[in-house]
Amino acid sequence: MPLVISPRAADINGLPVRRVLPTRQRRTVGPFCFLDEMGPATFAAGDGIDVRPHPHIGLSTLTYLLDGELVHRDSLGCTQAIRPGDVNWMTAGGGVTHSERSSDASRASDETLHGVQAWIALEPVDEDVEPSFQHVPEGELPVVERDGVSLRVLAGAAFGAASPVRVHSPLFYVEARWSAGGAVDVSPDLGERAFYPLAGSVTVDDETFEPGALVVLDDDAPSTLTADGGARVLLLGGPRRTAPIHMHWNYVASDTARIDDAKARWARGDFPRVIDDDGEPEVDPRG
Ligand code: MN
Repeated sequence: MPLVISPRAADINGLPVRRVLPTRQRRTVGPFCFLDEMGPATFAAGDGIDVRPHPHIGLSTLTYLLDGELVHRDSLGCTQAIRPGDVNWMTAGGGVTHSERSSDASRASDETLHGVQAWIALEPVDEDVEPSFQHVPEGELPVVERDGVSLRVLAGAAFGAASPVRVHSPLFYVEARWSAGGAVDVSPDLGERAFYPLAGSVTVDDETFEPGALVVLDDDAPSTLTADGGARVLLLGGPRRTAPIHMHWNYVASDTARIDDAKARWARGDFPRVIDDDGEPEVDPRG
């Protein structure tokens, strides 16, 4: 039977989020170790979201918006607006600092923000890779057309297509959009597999799943997802992580010494500063 993970409610600086990874039931699906649906939340003119400068280690973050606009700034000097359909991919390696804020333009009027942020754990061999940032506009992401279903490959490879996002280990992250009733086979060859309906319901083996929960499929079961026109579903996963994983605040590591080192570096102000963002840095709430 598939594992259904109901989200826990959290809050990022006034933005309500629904977190389905990590949970007690399941810490990772392939290399995915964190999954938040942000919003939808509407901000009045003048208001917006301000995630102030904060550090990461040991992961890549993937931000994907369904509505609204955010501006990413980081310690590499990248400043990049992200809009619905684009992918922002930041690899922290041994340490990067970034902020995510509503753009001035989006603060000019009422605006709805809705998106999904995923964290992908780096394998131990890659935990010290050079930090990097990559923005991929919507038009550069491959789309595989199936009967009644469009499959946009956000990161990794699946369905015979590969995203230009420079991943560090095998994974798949695909947005499936049904224009009519149809079926998609998510092969066990992809590794661990989960799906997160954003709109419309999905049926697998006569069981129907609604938006708002992460469904983790059984490892070896063949899984054909069927849905009606209008359904929109994120498919994600990859080979099972075999290395240990530790998470604290914005840090991911294969051993706790790396987490302790990051905590000490952030407390000392030893992470690189975000270029073009002089905002007060975030404080580790459980430091
Ligand atoms: Mn972050």
